[in-house]
Amino acid sequence: MSIDYSDGQYSGEDEVLLSASFTREDDGEGSLRPRTLAEYIGQDRAKDNLSVFIEGARRRGEPLDHVLLHGPPGLGKTTLAGIIAGELGVTLRKTSGPAIEKPKDLAALLTNLNENDVLFIDEIHRMNRAIEEILYPAMEDRQIDIIIGQGPSAASICLELKSFTLVGATTRSGQLSSPLRDRFGIDIKLEMYAPEDLRKIIERSARLLNIPLTPEGANEIASRSRGTPRIANRLLRRVRDFAEVTGDGVITYEAADSALTRLEIDRTGLDAIDRRLLRSIIDNYGGGPVGLDTIAATINEESITIEDVYEPYLMQRGLLARTPRGRCVTRAAYEHLGIAEAGNGQMALEY
Ligand code: ADP
Repeated sequence: MSIDYSDGQYSGEDEVLLSASFTREDDGEGSLRPRTLAEYIGQDRAKDNLSVFIEGARRRGEPLDHVLLHGPPGLGKTTLAGIIAGELGVTLRKTSGPAIEKPKDLAALLTNLNENDVLFIDEIHRMNRAIEEILYPAMEDRQIDIIIGQGPSAASICLELKSFTLVGATTRSGQLSSPLRDRFGIDIKLEMYAPEDLRKIIERSARLLNIPLTPEGANEIASRSRGTPRIANRLLRRVRDFAEVTGDGVITYEAADSALTRLEIDRTGLDAIDRRLLRSIIDNYGGGPVGLDTIAATINEESITIEDVYEPYLMQRGLLARTPRGRCVTRAAYEHLGIAEAGNGQMALEY
């Protein structure tokens, strides 16, 4: 399998430690990426189904049906796209929704695919609608219509494509148009990882990076990694720095706990921004309900970052709820922050 990452676009500026989105520091991620389904830890339901679909396609010598992967950042969507191509023994071509600026960019990508190749489009919900429309006939009938020339002499020609599999990844499946969504035959939702699976991921990464780690050290990092492999790997590297500089280099429970506490990551994996978010809803809006944009302005973060990166984990932990009238903190959030419940007549949500 060869992987062409040349079109991959990542915003490498955000250096927030717990952000699940890609940062420059994660550039070394490639070496930790599992290459086969057997190496891919957790997500058992998704893996079991995929292995059947892949085997079926392989036996028939056909391309795999188009696959939509959804879930918060850092859960392993890109990794899974690489694995699908690897298991099928074909080339992975990688791009992202915002990177495709013109219809001809997508046409060039599609016409350069070899038989049964996998085209991976990250953040597919951010693709421009005019470009998206080119995908419909490409996905369904393996053809694209392109316009040649301009004005009255312009002519539309239809190009046949080789058979291919589109793997789309999105953090927001709700933003996908239904014509696009309907064209994916396989729909896989990735779930946040249980601490047990994260522990295995951390132990695997520590082995690959030659980091001495005790089972208790691995457990501690796992339970503070907000269900996300990318964060688990990042915290492993940061804890290693502390263990090497302030200790003997071995990541024990004590080394992990003291490093993560210094990094302001609490026992449930919440960082300073998570706590500020919950606190501001309590202090400024009586625990909610309050609109997302208002919260974003109050804590000076982008709404999209709050929605994609912070909220999924806060909701999974039962600390925050989305209601039709806005966001509300739950009783558990008051308890977590050690704040007595508001005396403003409002009850925190029972979760
Ligand atoms: P996404 O595309 O969903 O943002 P990635 O596929 O880039 O996430 O995963 C981020 C990193 O997390 C990968 O480099 C890989 O090292 C690790 N990772 C993700 N999923 C798994 C898994 N199931 N098992 C082991 N490592 C994983």
